[in-house]
Amino acid sequence: MNEYVADKTRYEKMKYNRCGKSGLLLPALSLGLWHNFGDSSPFENQREMVRFAFDSGITHFDLANNYGPPPGSAEENFGKILKKDFRPYRDELIISTKAGYYMWEGPYGDWGSKKYLIASLDQSLKRMGLEYVDIFYHHRYDPNTPLEETMEALAQAVRQGKALYVGVSNYGPEETRRASSILKQMGLRLLVNQPRYSMLERRMEDGLQQVLEEEGIGAVVYSPLAQGLLTSRYLDGIPEDSRAMKSVFLKKENITDELVNKIRKLNEVAKRRGQSMAQMALSWVLRNGKVTSAIIGASRKEQIADNIRALDNLSFTAEELQEIDAVLNS
Ligand code: NDP
Repeated sequence: MNEYVADKTRYEKMKYNRCGKSGLLLPALSLGLWHNFGDSSPFENQREMVRFAFDSGITHFDLANNYGPPPGSAEENFGKILKKDFRPYRDELIISTKAGYYMWEGPYGDWGSKKYLIASLDQSLKRMGLEYVDIFYHHRYDPNTPLEETMEALAQAVRQGKALYVGVSNYGPEETRRASSILKQMGLRLLVNQPRYSMLERRMEDGLQQVLEEEGIGAVVYSPLAQGLLTSRYLDGIPEDSRAMKSVFLKKENITDELVNKIRKLNEVAKRRGQSMAQMALSWVLRNGKVTSAIIGASRKEQIADNIRALDNLSFTAEELQEIDAVLNS
């Protein structure tokens, strides 16, 4: 691939939102490296997607220790891309990683102990070739570890300069409130929670959104396209190269006729709005300003291009929202 020089107009293409009550602005769309960045995916395609994303004003790249396959390889591949193309741009990037799910054998490679989190962050930094990450997340709440210990691990990462900000992911409303309060007592802020949120997964609206607003915590949401369901991908069967064919996380049997019929109806609403299904799904997530950033996944750069155009129309009429709710509840 040729030498990379970032598009000079990149910051004109993106909208940036403040992450809770912090100083940090995040792009309305971020790129996640959960799928399609492991060793089983072609490296040059990965590189093209990261380049294209940054050229589109996407400054935030979301990783985790276990992304691959094999686990860790997404961070390694991202590290290679950083080294090849992004050396001059480190200060323009927000790179996040996480620990909380199974990563290595024995009692110290999973959940929420300080031992696990600190060791995992060191491994992540090494794999990516970084001195620090911008955001370090605890990936899921651990009911068996005192939350004080998990938060102490996050605080230590900041004190040691290995992370600039800290976040939690998949924490419920009360867990988030407690995490925020513990961190405040340590003189730190909980920057962000990362829950799943889409037209098909609205649990965040039941209490969590309110806690985030009250505490001034940002909402960076994942799987806004429900892993590809809320796109035109599955309207006419299950394509060979789709996630549903390749990943254990999106099961073919969950793509029922009933679901596809709903998505077809939503797609009609999208067409009337002059949007693709994917664009409308992203606009919907960003519709009321309560979401700081939606982390999209992609298997090719054309999908990122399609998704970015969601930003051209983020407002919905009351009638459109009602129609969407009626389809979702049917
Ligand atoms: P999405 O809901 O955005 O799904 C992405 C998938 O949708 C793509 O891989 C692609 O599937 C398909 N797609 C994307 N754009 C289009 C388009 N325009 N047209 C057609 N199909 C499209 O997000 P993910 O589920 O990938 O999650 C995004 C990120 O969120 C992850 O990478 C990760 O960073 C984060 N995440 C965090 C979790 C956590 O626990 N904190 C859990 C899960 C995700 P295909 O491959 O079939 O082309």
